[in-house]
Amino acid sequence: MKKIDKKQMLKILTILKKNFGKIDWSLEDPFKLLIATILSQHTSDKNSLKAYKRLEKNLELTPKVLVKVDSRKIEELIKPAGLWRIKAKRIKEVSNEILKKFSGDFSKIFNLPLQDARKVLLSLPGVGEKTADVLLAFSGGMPVFPVDTHLFTLAKRLKISNSKNYDSVRVAYEKLIPPKKRAEAHILLLTLGKRYCGALKPKCDVCPIKNFCPSKR
Ligand code: SF4
Repeated sequence: MKKIDKKQMLKILTILKKNFGKIDWSLEDPFKLLIATILSQHTSDKNSLKAYKRLEKNLELTPKVLVKVDSRKIEELIKPAGLWRIKAKRIKEVSNEILKKFSGDFSKIFNLPLQDARKVLLSLPGVGEKTADVLLAFSGGMPVFPVDTHLFTLAKRLKISNSKNYDSVRVAYEKLIPPKKRAEAHILLLTLGKRYCGALKPKCDVCPIKNFCPSKR
């Protein structure tokens, strides 16, 4: 089977929507989303969510508040996410930068053109390509397709891209998905990756898109 094209990608997204139900998402507060993304690095969704909830319950999640809070208090609250010292340091640094650069109002960044906004985000401590794109898509409503490890694996299996380079894989997905559908497509394909298309043991026999997949086992 050949690699998938735009038409097949749209069919795949329709099938996933039917299987996974309605995807509820709305634009999120960029600072809170950034904190959640820092906590999610190198840990499971369950652990990072636990840490985020503890932090949110005990502190007001604004740069103004977090720069003033003792690092040890943040470390204690985010322990379930692991690497708590490094993550607390990043949270403090990024809060400080956002206060300095945007007077605490991080949403100003989304008034910039997409590439400029991405550049500014990448200049912040602890913000890599994936985090920048998650913020652009889910806080800025910008037409980007963030790529994580699950989506790298899926890109190979669906023969969308074999590259290890973040931007090449992102652009390859974006060529197949219309701008307005990219954020929802990200959630649908990520869910497919997590539930069916794991790196070690893909569950091809029960995969909802097996009829479209060139790598079905
Ligand atoms: S058929 Fe298998 S390899 Fe293809 S997407 Fe589904 S789980 Fe992944």
